[in-house]
Amino acid sequence: MIGDYGLYTRGGVITERNADYATIRLRIPGGVLSAAQVKRLAEISDEYGDGTLHLTMRQTAEIPHVNPDDLEKIAEVLEKNGTPIGAEQNEVVNIMACPGTERCKYANCETIELARKVDARVFGRELPIRLRIAISGCTYMCNSPLLNDIGIIGRIRPLRIPGLCTGCGTCVEYCKERAIRLKDGISVLDEDKCVQCGVCIHSCPYHLLKSEYDHYQIMVGGRRGADPRVGRELVTVETEEEVVEVVDRIVYWVYRSAWSGRPLADQMDEIGYEKFKEEIQKEFGPKGRIGC
Ligand code: SF4
Ligand code: SF4
Ligand code: SF4
Repeated sequence: MIGDYGLYTRGGVITERNADYATIRLRIPGGVLSAAQVKRLAEISDEYGDGTLHLTMRQTAEIPHVNPDDLEKIAEVLEKNGTPIGAEQNEVVNIMACPGTERCKYANCETIELARKVDARVFGRELPIRLRIAISGCTYMCNSPLLNDIGIIGRIRPLRIPGLCTGCGTCVEYCKERAIRLKDGISVLDEDKCVQCGVCIHSCPYHLLKSEYDHYQIMVGGRRGADPRVGRELVTVETEEEVVEVVDRIVYWVYRSAWSGRPLADQMDEIGYEKFKEEIQKEFGPKGRIGC
């Protein structure tokens, strides 16, 4: 059974092992659903699928075992529910985000709305390769942004107010990177060891540690799978708007210059990282780059 061919070619419609059935993957940026949306998805699965929902690695959900003949009706009800058919082919797939400042006490930046903004700009864009994006609110990186083609990480650079430190050592205890030590009765930061997680800022009982500035580090070329790679730093920016802009330009570069069949990480190796970085940064406007 072929069903609606136009819908069947969309990445969110996945042919099952038994080709008479399809699984529908949804578009849920940041993986956040309201209770009402969850209830409606359960009803949709009862009506068109096998009554189950499958939660995926990329913070989306799938409705397994639907009849391809029902695709048009399913697409309509999913659209109405605010959970449209997603993407899983050579395109930008579901944007992942950790809870960020909405709920996590360690977060340095908001992530869910940012995921929605990135989604609004680039989700589903057809490309020569599949592109995965993840956003983490801090350097603990719970959702592994470094194993995504584009990883966005919220960071904070600590700054001690000169002259006021009591030398209590609380920040030294809290820093897992051993980037702070006490010298002559005051705390001293080792910039080389500091990963800019921001934990020490919240730890000082006298509120002497401040954030110099919040920023987003944007990494490229990570991947999971049999030959995992860690993403490499491309640029650091200060605002959500700049994050969306940089992501858009990376995606545009991939659209124009990448070739099919090989993940971004391999293509970066082939081009040479410095040249790749230079090429992408050419997309960043008249000054040649965004951010710092
Ligand atoms: S990455 Fe950081 S902000 Fe996000 S959930 Fe983990 S600890 Fe919290
Ligand atoms: S920001 Fe994190 S790594 Fe840097 S000094 Fe503070 S606790 Fe340590
Ligand atoms: S926690 Fe505050 S007062 Fe204590 S050593 Fe660190 S900066 Fe100084």
